[in-house]
Amino acid sequence: MVWAVPRAELLTVGEAFEDLVFSGLRRLPRPGEEIKTSTFMKTVGGGALITAVAASRLGLRVRVLSGLGPDAAARLRHEGVGVANVKRPGEPHAITAALSTGTNRSFVTFNGVNDVLEARLARALPRERAAHVHFAFFPRDCRRWTAVVEACRARIISTSWDFGWNEGLLADRGFPDLVRALDYTFLNEQEMRLYARRREAARALAVWRRHPRTVVLKLGPRGSRLLSPDLDVSARAPRVKAVDTTGAGDAFNGGFLYALLRGFPPRACLAAGNFAGAMSTRMAGGVDALPRARELPAALRRRRAARARGSR
Ligand code: ADP
Repeated sequence: MVWAVPRAELLTVGEAFEDLVFSGLRRLPRPGEEIKTSTFMKTVGGGALITAVAASRLGLRVRVLSGLGPDAAARLRHEGVGVANVKRPGEPHAITAALSTGTNRSFVTFNGVNDVLEARLARALPRERAAHVHFAFFPRDCRRWTAVVEACRARIISTSWDFGWNEGLLADRGFPDLVRALDYTFLNEQEMRLYARRREAARALAVWRRHPRTVVLKLGPRGSRLLSPDLDVSARAPRVKAVDTTGAGDAFNGGFLYALLRGFPPRACLAAGNFAGAMSTRMAGGVDALPRARELPAALRRRRAARARGSR
């Protein structure tokens, strides 16, 4: 048998966007109003893409499975990330326009290929080869994806998912089983409460403590915490002057998965996630400020060097 697809350490699966960011606005426009600005940037976004670039810059072999426009595909290749593109020629890619005042933001998204993405991702995934698959999209039918996650486990591929904020998941009776099937679930503070169906953080935490697998909680400037049946560890985030926190959670996932797949212990995985998340906020957009391996704090760099020596 000939393997056409190169083996990745990490495969990220999900939506990609071309992001058009209009910033420095005095205020958000009212209906019928046009507001002008001299600050604009065009960049690429989407959880699968940001997590992939974050992990690749730290040194993992990464591929992305998504529906990508030409700019996003070119950017990924430039970053050394392999591309499995399920967008067909002539189909439009997704575009998001973001309006930002510095304290407030509004978005409009054109879905493009993302409207038909889910079925294509499910069909393409069995052809991919990776040690770990990270999912970053809103699944419309959780039962189908539970079967996909279980098929990964049968192939000795570990899995993680960042569902983002999606209230629609609460109505899917298959959602709890999907979360139980995953090796790692990433949640920020609001999502931790939403998916536990608890308003208070302490009560939500009690729900996640009973979860049979690992949950990674992202706590903004306070850092992160990992809960699993026999473990409860936390790590503080480095202090940074945050310019734009767009994509910090996805950057965190990339840092965490890099350390996890290199065999670092749990607290070091959190530290690598915090580092990538914090550094990503130094510039506007989700990818430009993602750190490189040489920027890692000394303790993580030493672990990295020790791992490299051990694998020689
Ligand atoms: P999300 O972007 O998913 O809402 P968070 O806001 O918790 O998630 O950010 C993800 C991670 O990025 C945090 O756990 C932390 O490590 C890092 N981070 C985010 N904001 C800051 C900040 N202002 N200072 C330092 N680190 C930050």
